[in-house]
Amino acid sequence: MKKSWVMKEIEENRSGEIVIEGLSASPGIAIGPAFIYQRGNIKVDPQKVDHKEVKRELKSFEEVKELTVRDLERISSIGRRGIGNDSSDIIDAQIEIVNDPELRKSIHTHIKDQQFKADYAVCEAFNKYLGLIESSGNKLMIERLVDIRDIRDRMVRKLQHRWQTMSVNERSIIVSDEITPSEIIEFTRSNILALALNKGGLTTHTSIIANAMGLPAVAGTSIATRVIQRGEKIIVDGTRGRIIVRPTNESLDKYQRLLRQQKRKERDLQKILSLPSTTASGENFTLRANMEFDEELINVEKYKADGIGLLRTESLFISDGIHLDRSSQEAFYRKSIIVAGQQTVTIRLFDVGGDKILNETKPEANPFLGWRGIRILLDRRDLLEDQLYAILKVAGEYPGRVKILLPMVSSMEELQAVKEEIGKVQDTLKNEGHAIDKHIQIGIMVEVPSTAIQADDFASHVDFFSIGTNDLTQYTLAVDRGNTLISNLYQQMHPAIWKLIEMTVTAAKKYQKEVTVCGELASNPFGAMCLMGMGISDLSMVPTAIPKVKKILVSQTMDEMQDLIKKVEKAISYSDVIAIVKNWYKEYDKNNNG
Ligand code: PEP
Ligand code: MG
Repeated sequence: MKKSWVMKEIEENRSGEIVIEGLSASPGIAIGPAFIYQRGNIKVDPQKVDHKEVKRELKSFEEVKELTVRDLERISSIGRRGIGNDSSDIIDAQIEIVNDPELRKSIHTHIKDQQFKADYAVCEAFNKYLGLIESSGNKLMIERLVDIRDIRDRMVRKLQHRWQTMSVNERSIIVSDEITPSEIIEFTRSNILALALNKGGLTTHTSIIANAMGLPAVAGTSIATRVIQRGEKIIVDGTRGRIIVRPTNESLDKYQRLLRQQKRKERDLQKILSLPSTTASGENFTLRANMEFDEELINVEKYKADGIGLLRTESLFISDGIHLDRSSQEAFYRKSIIVAGQQTVTIRLFDVGGDKILNETKPEANPFLGWRGIRILLDRRDLLEDQLYAILKVAGEYPGRVKILLPMVSSMEELQAVKEEIGKVQDTLKNEGHAIDKHIQIGIMVEVPSTAIQADDFASHVDFFSIGTNDLTQYTLAVDRGNTLISNLYQQMHPAIWKLIEMTVTAAKKYQKEVTVCGELASNPFGAMCLMGMGISDLSMVPTAIPKVKKILVSQTMDEMQDLIKKVEKAISYSDVIAIVKNWYKEYDKNNNG
């Protein structure tokens, strides 16, 4: 008998079990009922508009374009923190597609010359673009088609003001043709178990977000939705890229065993997280979370972070110079405080500029050395005032729980100016009858070398220092943090960086001020040990790094960590430091793995 198309692509054994092979889009195993999810297709009609309405359509398109870029930037940042740079670079490439001048020109032409509505214009221009990719035969680009279609659909839906409310069954496995990152984020609220998809590749947004959310996913199966029936029990093996439908008892046993192993590993991780945060010699330390997006806030609890050590607020910007209004900002800050439980939240003022949005001005030759962070805020007092109003109002509701952090400070004048502004906004709030936190702590990022060098001068004027090793490294070593051509020179453990950290710690100790590190160095277990040895016991990092950092810190005595940093501080080159790191891990592995 001739085999059906399905049979060619799947293996079915006599028992009726079907194994669908796909791509391992996100590792892990899940067993559960299937939920077939079908998103409605976008619908666009070639509707024309009046001559008078052309301007409005152009404006709508531009607004939606900016919103889409913002969405993508959000995914890129989540991905960067979840599974590393490579995949986020792909999203950055997609941001370029949305910003592509040719695509924009084509959309404008459809609207201006042919007087089509913006949704139709977007659809037409994207379809032409998709057609070109399809016929190019470029495998990597063809893998991107899902994401490009997603961008098209996203923009069209935004233009049509069509927002679907999605509801899926709790604790089910989503089986779908394809899925967008925003849908995954939406679905995780229903505690879904895994994803089984017809389309998608390894480097799609879906894969990035699934990884960041710890959701097993198999993509690119072509047939999942046609083979799997609603409600039936299936197994998703994201690690091997396999879906097992109608599993035999034998397969179920095997996978239940693997699932138990997976849960054991998760429990071991939880065990580490449940240990008291004390070194082997009994000193306490604090590990906090770096946060930026609403969607990430769940990780504060998941990784048992001691509150939020760095709340980046750039996500509150919608587009060039437009930021969320005061009450939307307040909602985000309140939610962060609630998530942090009894711990504190350090809210950093907008650090826009550099590589982060807000390019309303003329292009700058050196944006990282340009109009960025506190420099923008002091020029754009409306931004500063709105943000301070929202922060200080919420801080008044939760006294002692909010700290304010100033980004990119390079001079004493900047600190004084912001302090004055804080005083003024607090007066306004008082006059309006709101409570205020009179003792709200104000700190500065130490990320520009001049500030580290002047730490002793700053110390008596601040409540705390937060060392941002990401920028401190770029500015000290004159190495653009995003330039892949020189990424080998971007060395957070360079001897010069240790010296600047040491200067900051010495100043903080002298004036009995708190000092914390929120740059990537803190999320490196070796870096964290050295910082502890220097006397910095308060570290803030991407939450997924907390278990590995904690595991090392609880295993070391303070003497050991002090000896280690003494050795590192003697190094006169980066290669010397790396030799110390390698040696240390060799010894550690010997002692811990026999
Ligand atoms: C830093 O510069 O180290 C830092 C934490 O801030 P960001 O990465 O947001 O610039
Ligand atoms: Mg920084």
